[in-house]
Amino acid sequence: MTDTVKKTKNKKRPTLALRLFTCFAGFTAFIILILWLFQAVFLNAIYQRVKLSDMKKCADSLAVSVESGKISDDIVPFSERYNACITVFRITDGVGETVAKSHIQTACIIHNVSGGELFGKMYGLAKEEGYAVERIDIPLSKNDKVMTGGTRADHPTAVVAARTTAAGGCEYLILIDSETLPLVATTRTLKYQLIVISAFLLVASVILSLVLSDRIARPLRKMTEEASLLARGRYDVNFDCDSFSEGKELGDALNYAASELSKLDSMQKELIANISHDLRTPLTMISGYSEVMRDIPGEMTAENMQVIIDETARLSSLVSDLLELSKLQNASQTPNLSDFSLTDTVLETQNRYEHLVKKDGYRISFEADCNATVRADKTRILQVIYNLVNNAISYTGSDKRVIIAQTVSNGKVTLSVTDTGDGIPKEQLPMIWERYYKVNDFHKRAKVGTGLGLSIVKNILVMHGADFGVTSEVGSGSTFWFSLPLVRADAPSREREVAPKEPE
Ligand code: ADP
Repeated sequence: MTDTVKKTKNKKRPTLALRLFTCFAGFTAFIILILWLFQAVFLNAIYQRVKLSDMKKCADSLAVSVESGKISDDIVPFSERYNACITVFRITDGVGETVAKSHIQTACIIHNVSGGELFGKMYGLAKEEGYAVERIDIPLSKNDKVMTGGTRADHPTAVVAARTTAAGGCEYLILIDSETLPLVATTRTLKYQLIVISAFLLVASVILSLVLSDRIARPLRKMTEEASLLARGRYDVNFDCDSFSEGKELGDALNYAASELSKLDSMQKELIANISHDLRTPLTMISGYSEVMRDIPGEMTAENMQVIIDETARLSSLVSDLLELSKLQNASQTPNLSDFSLTDTVLETQNRYEHLVKKDGYRISFEADCNATVRADKTRILQVIYNLVNNAISYTGSDKRVIIAQTVSNGKVTLSVTDTGDGIPKEQLPMIWERYYKVNDFHKRAKVGTGLGLSIVKNILVMHGADFGVTSEVGSGSTFWFSLPLVRADAPSREREVAPKEPE
């Protein structure tokens, strides 16, 4: 385990700047590759494809014109739109007679061909398929040879398309000649541009990644420094990051964690003070009384022994509360479920308080609408009831009343414990369930407690997935309640009060 932690720690990770740079550089390379493919590698192929498809479209449209007798009007606009030379022949006995023509290129090879090799070849091909297209090299002029060095790549080629159609009982042949331009120079220019663009993008991605990483990393570095201060117990740290929303959220979460840690720290300090106080008081009493009983004859009385017994019980309950809480906070704890009567459990609890009722004059009443059976961990639920009733007894008002009520509704049974004491201020209500929390300066210190009881209650109820809560009004008292799913509600309602007997 430690080894794994060490390994993870020692593994060298790339910096944010390097990560960002890799991402930007990768993205730039991808864009350049796409540009390169389309603008350099496949440019000629794409150009040829577009050209051939244009010629087919042109031939089809011209055929429609011939059939509708509008060819003389349409031929020039088509010739201009597709940048091609066009000749339309009427065929008689294999010989073509020009009926319309438009020539806009100087190097046209279908100009005035009405017989001969090219005418015969194109007519033959078109007659078979209806449409044919041929690529024909244009011989270089002397001047061109000097200019280009005579290489074939720089050499223009003609694409000739032929289409046959019929109109008015005659056969027609449409010949279209469109020169394809050599793209070698264009491709070379684009390649040069791409090299410059690539270099520029690379430099831009380095600068951008450095700027961005600095913007992101600076607040993170500051947070790391603050976090190490926090780890050393400085709770006044401030995790500030306004540059981006995720950083702000992280900062807020860390600030919250710091404030919670600080609260916990002061609670723990307070707990240690409280526990030391709570331990010292009974210990002083026990040792004091024991010495008196040992040294002073006649002090070995039952009352003095009782003081020692009571103080020992207080010590023992403090220690068991601490143990209980640490056990409950162990996540592996699961409730030991069984079906039992919650009503009977409360009645048993109420009986145990009879001694207190008789001795100190408390009135503990219990109202139940039926005998409710629940499925829960009986020992733990008993602990919850004890804690709530003990608190109610400790904090109830001068009338010394505690009301326990059980109601069943919507498949749930709710148990509430109400007292008539000082109540709890609204702003403190959420905190009373926290470990070690005590509503200080409000309840008299005479009501000694460990501040662990409600935390134990909360842990047990959360473990059961139960709903629970408290309503309280300052000056009128508090009601603590919890509900459990009802298994059965079967006996008639019970109502019982344990109260001190009136003197006869
Ligand atoms: P304690 O052992 O101090 O009673 P608890 O965890 O049981 O610890 O309760 C936490 C705090 O909640 C108490 O210190 C007290 O201030 C307040 N509290 C609990 N129950 C009541 C109650 N019934 N009436 C008023 N305040 C209460």
